[in-house]
Amino acid sequence: MGALRSADGSTAVVIAGGGPTGLMLAGELALAGIDVVIVERRASQVVDGSRAGGLHARTIEVLDQRGIAERFLSAGQKHPKVGFSLIPLDISDFPTRHNYVLALWQSHFEPILADWVGELGVPILRSCEVMGFAQDGTGVDVELSGDTSLRAKYLVGCDGGRSLVRKTAGIDFAGLDPSTSWMIAEVEMDEEPELGFRRNSVGTHALGRREVGEPVRVVLTERQVEHTGDPSMDELREALVAVYGTDFGLRGANWISRFTDMTRQAASYRDGRVLLAGDAAHVHPPQGGQGLNTGIQDAVNLGWKLAQVVNGTSPDSLLDTYHAERHPVGARVLHNTMAQVALGSPDDRHQALRDTMIDLLGMDEPRRRIAAMLCGLDIRYDLGAGHPLVGRRMPDLDVHTADGPTRVYALLHDARPVLLNFGEAGGFDIAPWAKRVRLVDASHEGVWELPVLGEIAAPPAVVIRPDGHVAWAGDPTDPELPHALATWFGAAAPGR
Ligand SMILES: Cc1cc2nc3c(=O)[nH]c(=O)nc-3n(C[C@H](O)[C@H](O)[C@H](O)COP(=O)(O)OP(=O)(O)OC[C@H]3O[C@@H](n4cnc5c(N)ncnc54)[C@H](O)[C@@H]3O)c2cc1C
Repeated sequence: MGALRSADGSTAVVIAGGGPTGLMLAGELALAGIDVVIVERRASQVVDGSRAGGLHARTIEVLDQRGIAERFLSAGQKHPKVGFSLIPLDISDFPTRHNYVLALWQSHFEPILADWVGELGVPILRSCEVMGFAQDGTGVDVELSGDTSLRAKYLVGCDGGRSLVRKTAGIDFAGLDPSTSWMIAEVEMDEEPELGFRRNSVGTHALGRREVGEPVRVVLTERQVEHTGDPSMDELREALVAVYGTDFGLRGANWISRFTDMTRQAASYRDGRVLLAGDAAHVHPPQGGQGLNTGIQDAVNLGWKLAQVVNGTSPDSLLDTYHAERHPVGARVLHNTMAQVALGSPDDRHQALRDTMIDLLGMDEPRRRIAAMLCGLDIRYDLGAGHPLVGRRMPDLDVHTADGPTRVYALLHDARPVLLNFGEAGGFDIAPWAKRVRLVDASHEGVWELPVLGEIAAPPAVVIRPDGHVAWAGDPTDPELPHALATWFGAAAPGR
């Protein structure tokens, strides 16, 4: 077997899978100067249309933190409502610059993200598969198709729901088997079909198109849960006739696929030098459109931590905070998708429950809470007690700095931590972290408002991690500040 790199562990990180999660993680690592390689089974970035249809507010914020949101915004359409089991919830009053869902098919999203990763110089080994691996005390030997291998310090499985990395690591994927199956297709029809939702004793069905002249998207709940392989044209025609009494002159299909409500999560996101992110770590039904979004945010949580461990800034234990922070977020996504599937069940009792939920979600407070959960704006990592901002995402405030007016997310474009000081300049000696943490003296006029919580007291200073979450907030004289900097960005060491 030939080795593509030297056997001393010089490739820092191998990422199995160049889907949304793997691409985002590669970009984060490359920004931190880490030597990273993506191994991707597909020959190109082409993905059929059967997958994610949009980006939620927090994902767009995360892309904004890297200065690339505009690339996606210019390719999609904004909608002011998120859907909880198809119950529309308006988020246009949310305190974010991105108070909408961006409709953008995954087939468009991936090439845009891949372009960014390409600009950052990340090599992608295409038509190449991770076949297995073995880890030891200093690295991981990653076995590839074509009888080659890579030696890396860390391997990250971003290889989707059937993750070989997860299985080879022996990580349990506990959860629920499917209870419902849906057929999904993009079709050409001679007749104009009846667009919108239809419910019957089997479940909810939908026909729709985003733009006039585009092919029709079909989603049909199936009577049977167990299937082998993708559905055929005949099965699609039969299912259409069963629901609508006609196939609307079905002429052809660009693709036909199916998905289920299987709901599973990896028991651990880490096994030594092997980590999991995205669908490899969690699968759930697409209700609420959270899968791709959760994977992107996994990647942004993991990227800077892995970079700091690889370059020796932080101890290996920093990687444990990835599981500690992201596993509960994934568990919550699984939980809310299970609730959404239940609310879509066609029987009378579930429909009564659905009506009750519609009533509740018509009220302001429940709407805010559920919508903020769906779009990821309410995430709070448990970093201990303190100011309400600690563990939450930093709002994208307009600020004035010595370099002129800017906004907070522009300060995060290079994925480096920031100590943002709103008080007297010079109140804290940043020298021991100066090479790792950027100190910015700033002022902000106006209130600080967080999703769900509302207005909060403005802190005199905040430490913002590269993922945009606040690690510490308070007065720069607080003895906890050096402790927080050391915890997250390595021990005090002038010159490092
Ligand atoms: C019908 C449907 C609708 C959806 N709607 C939404 C939505 O609206 N919003 C949303 O956020 N999410 C949605 N999702 C979920 C979303 O598509 C996934 O969560 C997302 O693709 C996960 O990204 P990933 O990179 O983690 O995994 P994947 O996209 O599965 O990427 C994994 C990659 O790894 C590669 N790979 C696999 N094994 C290997 C190997 N051994 N070696 C090398 N490469 C390998 C694969 O080729 C693939 O490119 C939907 C999914 C479905 C099925």
